[in-house]
Amino acid sequence: MVLLTAFGLTAQTSQQRWQVIRDGFEAGTSPVQTHRDVTFIDALSVCDAVGVVYTRDDEGRFIFSFPEHPVTFVPDGPFAQTGLDFIHFTLPPYYENYRLFVPQRHFIEILEQFYPGRIHIEPALRRIEVVPPASDVIAARGRMQQERMLFEVVLRQPLAVKIELVDSMTIDLQVQGIERFQAPMFEADSSFGGSMQWRPGETLHAYLKTPFPIGDARLSGPTYGGVVTVILTPREEDNGPGGTVEVLQALEQDKRAWEIDKIVVDAGHGGKDPGAIGHNHTREKEIALDIALRLRDQIRERARVEVVMTRDTDVFIPLNERTRIANSTGGKLFISIHCNSARSRRAHGQETYFLSPARNERAMKVAMKENSVIKYEESQEEYTDLTEENFILLAMAQAQFVKESEDFAGMIQRRMTSRSGLHDRGVDQAGFYVLIGASMPAVLVETAFLSNAKEESLLRKPSFRQDTAEGICDAVIDFMEKYGE
Ligand SMILES: [Zn+2]
Repeated sequence: MVLLTAFGLTAQTSQQRWQVIRDGFEAGTSPVQTHRDVTFIDALSVCDAVGVVYTRDDEGRFIFSFPEHPVTFVPDGPFAQTGLDFIHFTLPPYYENYRLFVPQRHFIEILEQFYPGRIHIEPALRRIEVVPPASDVIAARGRMQQERMLFEVVLRQPLAVKIELVDSMTIDLQVQGIERFQAPMFEADSSFGGSMQWRPGETLHAYLKTPFPIGDARLSGPTYGGVVTVILTPREEDNGPGGTVEVLQALEQDKRAWEIDKIVVDAGHGGKDPGAIGHNHTREKEIALDIALRLRDQIRERARVEVVMTRDTDVFIPLNERTRIANSTGGKLFISIHCNSARSRRAHGQETYFLSPARNERAMKVAMKENSVIKYEESQEEYTDLTEENFILLAMAQAQFVKESEDFAGMIQRRMTSRSGLHDRGVDQAGFYVLIGASMPAVLVETAFLSNAKEESLLRKPSFRQDTAEGICDAVIDFMEKYGE
């Protein structure tokens, strides 16, 4: 959805240029324009000069690859998205003559916050001075998350990475295309039992050592940013001495406590937020509610478990309120029901998401579409006020269930598509606001495409909505059998 700019571009404008100095030399200049007393700077030429990579997707969004958080701008959109956080503009950015003009004050704030090197602004001299980071690897961190050991490496920009098992307790993380390297400080608290060793080269090796035999190793990232995470899970049958035993005991306790006695079903959108709208005017909020109600009845009848609905009528519920309901009612599983839409009318099929940073552009688009609901919310500050720390804490609530959420999403895909016969688009991950605070396994189901004529007419059929609800309920039963008491 595109919001029009609130002012005409022909309004009084004055043009100047700002100088960008990199490592003491002029690296470029950036045009500046003023509209309605707001100064706009061309973000693209600043980034070219500073050395920040950006891409433009086929829907016209600009994604800047700052290492810790990619920042996405939508021309004429009221905010930029950084991971799951939002930066609101006084006036929206606009795209003109291959330049992306962003309110200067906000863009400078973004640079100061996200640029990995040093930055100095001289407004009186119309100058931005930067000193790029001395290494392509900016940070390395270790932390525990339940039983898993997480190693994070932050790169200056996205580079190709892969992992290999060296021995039962060592992973070799390889980063290709390194130009400059200085070993960063490894940040971890003293209780972290892992360590990291570097072997520099054009292909950089980071050896990640664990105190336990590794059962499962996963690599995530880098996406548009430069964060690479390796998640290592201990081998379960190992009962050796030391930390592993404690880890396994904690796992046992967790499992005992996990009685799946309440399931939260969330019908997407509602009230003033219609969600996606099909060519025949079918509204996502109505279809999602109908499928959610059918799913509720199925779960009550066949799984014999209590169901909490975040809404069972056509009302507007803010995104964070949905997870608050889920947590405060003691939900053990969270299922958010939606309908997909895409610019291409040919896109079709069913897909299920779990919360994790998006690993491809397609997933990121779906998340941005679902997240854009916040424009209907009166207190958007609740989202923008999320500090980094708050965000990490919130995301952590969900992070401990990543494995189960992914597993559950896979079960839904298998069961739902086998009932409906629709194309299986598979399981994907992205940053959905509605899933972020849920402290339980949580998934978001895109039941079919309202933008596809054939699927829109299917979504209008009660029999299709019933099949979809039954398929999701089959997966709930699979999940309870695997993870329940
Ligand atoms: Zn939706």
